[in-house]
Amino acid sequence: MSASEAAATLCVAGQFCDGYTAIAHPVNALFSDASLVLISPDIHRTVNLSEVRISEALGQVPRTFTFADGATLVVPTSDELSKKLGESIPKLQRWESKYRYAVVALAAIIGSAWWIYSCAIPYIADQAVARFGTELESEHPYSTLANLDAAGVWKPSKLDESRQSQTRRAIAERLRLGHVDLKRIAFRDSPDLGANAFALGGGDMVLTDDLIHLLSPEEQIAVVAHELGHVHHRHNQRLWLRQVGLLGAMRLLLGTNGWHDPIANTTQLLGQTRYSREFEADADAYAVGLLTESGISPCHLATGLRKLEAAAPVHARTQSEWFSSHPLTENRIGKFEGSCRARD
Ligand SMILES: [Zn+2]
Repeated sequence: MSASEAAATLCVAGQFCDGYTAIAHPVNALFSDASLVLISPDIHRTVNLSEVRISEALGQVPRTFTFADGATLVVPTSDELSKKLGESIPKLQRWESKYRYAVVALAAIIGSAWWIYSCAIPYIADQAVARFGTELESEHPYSTLANLDAAGVWKPSKLDESRQSQTRRAIAERLRLGHVDLKRIAFRDSPDLGANAFALGGGDMVLTDDLIHLLSPEEQIAVVAHELGHVHHRHNQRLWLRQVGLLGAMRLLLGTNGWHDPIANTTQLLGQTRYSREFEADADAYAVGLLTESGISPCHLATGLRKLEAAAPVHARTQSEWFSSHPLTENRIGKFEGSCRARD
């Protein structure tokens, strides 16, 4: 053996079994480019590596060399051995040995993203609205009544003026509105939106004609109380700002371009629905408080919701809870039906 051949040989201590007995013999295994030599006081064996079956490199699992006659050699795995065997997977092997770090890092990234999504963004957005709510209103004009009228979202109401003022008067007389301006309650017609109510940016509220036709006066008042909850808590602004924050975070994390990226759109939808559901629960709680204070049973919210659900298009009723902006109507109704039983 020449000096250069000796330098190219890798010597590894291993255990040899002859395939006939279970006795393991300590041996030195010498790997050169094409052959494997086993040496011990009573073993000397030379084989061509091409005639040996070699187990795959997998993390720190020892490598097993199986010879044609059933004898085996087991040696510790190593990058040097893989290199000597001409394998191209040492990188994969290194990655596998470090997969635990990868799992921990992934869990940390997901945990951080969840915290930003469910805690940090809502907190920062809500604080900003609490401090700069009025200024934000002028920066957030897309959901104001005038803009939605101009965009053709709905048509002018077909209810005559006396019906509109009668409804406003009923609301004013029965509901202790305090500082809320009744002139901000508007009526609009839209077959597409059906029986519906909306609290808009700027504090306006829209009741559709179908809603007035469908609900009793008490149920209309209950729905208005719910919408007043949205106005009171400035939900419109808070939702808008949270979505802006969520998209900003998305851009930073995923490097997307925000508004039109499919991933951003999906995440925005999930964010919007999650945040909206939180707001719906708040508005419901506000409505129950206001109705009770005004001597009106929250039961009317339950019966009103039942009618609205029955009148809603089928696709809106079968939305999953996760994707629905309103918590499932049945869940909401359940909270108010206790007051119906108390009234019976
Ligand atoms: Zn609502």
